[in-house]
Amino acid sequence: MAQIRLKNVSKRFDNEYVVNNMNLTVKDGSFTVLVGPSGCGKSTTLRMIAGLEQVSEGEIWVDDECVNDVSPGKRDVAMVFQNYALYPTMTVKGNIEFGLTNRKVPKRERESLINDIAAIVGLENHLYKKPQTLSGGQRQRVALARAMVKKPKVFILDEPLSNLDAKLRSQMRTELIQLHQRLGTTFIYVTHDQVEAMSMGDEIVLLNKGEIQQNDSPMNVYHYPVNVFSAEFIGTPA
Ligand code: ADP
Ligand code: MG
Repeated sequence: MAQIRLKNVSKRFDNEYVVNNMNLTVKDGSFTVLVGPSGCGKSTTLRMIAGLEQVSEGEIWVDDECVNDVSPGKRDVAMVFQNYALYPTMTVKGNIEFGLTNRKVPKRERESLINDIAAIVGLENHLYKKPQTLSGGQRQRVALARAMVKKPKVFILDEPLSNLDAKLRSQMRTELIQLHQRLGTTFIYVTHDQVEAMSMGDEIVLLNKGEIQQNDSPMNVYHYPVNVFSAEFIGTPA
């Protein structure tokens, strides 16, 4: 488990700020949802936390360590992408195992870890298939399993359900909430869908134009919006 802190974090591309002086504490073990319209800086924020993007200004802390200069592989955070980013030539097992390649885990332990995780995400009968033969929901589970095998302190998920149809999306929401409860790990979850945010998060971070508008429980954001943007964004159904 880990607490993440952003201290006055900004990101500029060329001379434009896409994340502007963000201060945020992501609580240990929480399911924190970053929500806001397209282009508001959600992915950039996640990528900075994961170390895939350098901050322009400010500091990112994981527990009691400033990780600004720590490479992505050493940050103990695992990111699940919107497009899954699976390797098409590898089997499901190979894709999951890929999450481990830099770690010196003995083969027998590796096998049992992969089997355990495959069972948790319901892929135990698909380990020797190639990603392109799987459904969207199964591919999403492979991406999750590949992140889980790292046993990270923090899971970062960037719109992981946006490529799924409505029924599967709703099922996967429930599965992700259960997974969070089971692992007890910190989840940082991005969506542009306010319904998804409100139904999944125990903590909501509402963003617009690179700035935090409101950071509170779903109940408080809904009942006590702090500004017009917050009232309209959360109040308007998707
Ligand atoms: P969101 O995930 O909320 O849709 P992003 O974080 O992807 O938003 O993008 C925020 C803004 O930063 C957008 O205007 C986007 O075009 C811009 N942006 C993102 N990545 C880059 C990049 N590598 N170079 C230049 N501009 C970028
Ligand atoms: Mg995005």
